[in-house]
Amino acid sequence: MSTQAREVPAGAPLLAARDLRKSYGRTEALRGAGLELHAGEILAVSGASGSGKSTLLHCLSGIVRPDAGSVSYGDERLDQLSEERLSELRRTEFGVVFQFGQLIPELPVLDNVALPLLLAGVARGEAHARADAWLERFGVRGQRAMRPGELSGGQVQRAALARALVTGPRVVFADEPTGALDSLGGEQVMTALAHAARETDTAVVLITHDAQVAAYADREVRLQDGAVQGQGVVSGTVSREV
Ligand code: ADP
Ligand code: MG
Repeated sequence: MSTQAREVPAGAPLLAARDLRKSYGRTEALRGAGLELHAGEILAVSGASGSGKSTLLHCLSGIVRPDAGSVSYGDERLDQLSEERLSELRRTEFGVVFQFGQLIPELPVLDNVALPLLLAGVARGEAHARADAWLERFGVRGQRAMRPGELSGGQVQRAALARALVTGPRVVFADEPTGALDSLGGEQVMTALAHAARETDTAVVLITHDAQVAAYADREVRLQDGAVQGQGVVSGTVSREV
């Protein structure tokens, strides 16, 4: 399945969020957060627990509608789109990895990863072959026949990444994909994710609180109290303020 190339004028961001606000009751999760993501770019979003990272990711990927502010994807305003169009975008152009993986417990891992392809009408054999290749890439092919409940947290995250990438999305949103892994496992997963993203020109929004993980990104933005605090260019494990 191919995703149609989205027309973005040269130099313009693929995804741009401005002045996002989102409250849950009296908790202001986002207070004016904004960022830009360019095609093929790996952007790390860091910040303390509770700073609004997951809420920002959900607004960027059209899962949560912000109370105020805008999210533009190419020439579409995600904050104003119909639920129908949003779910179509999530099926075809976005891949989302939630903080705790969220695979379907009743389905074997292989079917979990193949599911987005099956939903898109890809034949079963082809869907399974492609899912298999992604499981291999993330080092969990040996777990293909197991149910998610039989996997470690880290293996679930690897399978969730395989599922997010299997359709060839334009943007992958990953919420702390290495949170359940030790540092070696985290490195392996990040190397696999970064290679896959570079190879397929997929942009990645990567939430992390780990400086080692952020080092795989082209750029890093830091959230504090629901707003972007500083933007730096990541170089090695050091991030320079610009
Ligand atoms: P992070 O991912 O950086 O830990 P979150 O975006 O999950 O931050 O949360 C930001 C703030 O919003 C926190 O105070 C959190 O408790 C609150 N919050 C997030 N989601 C919800 C929700 N669905 N209902 C109520 N409060 C929420
Ligand atoms: Mg979070």
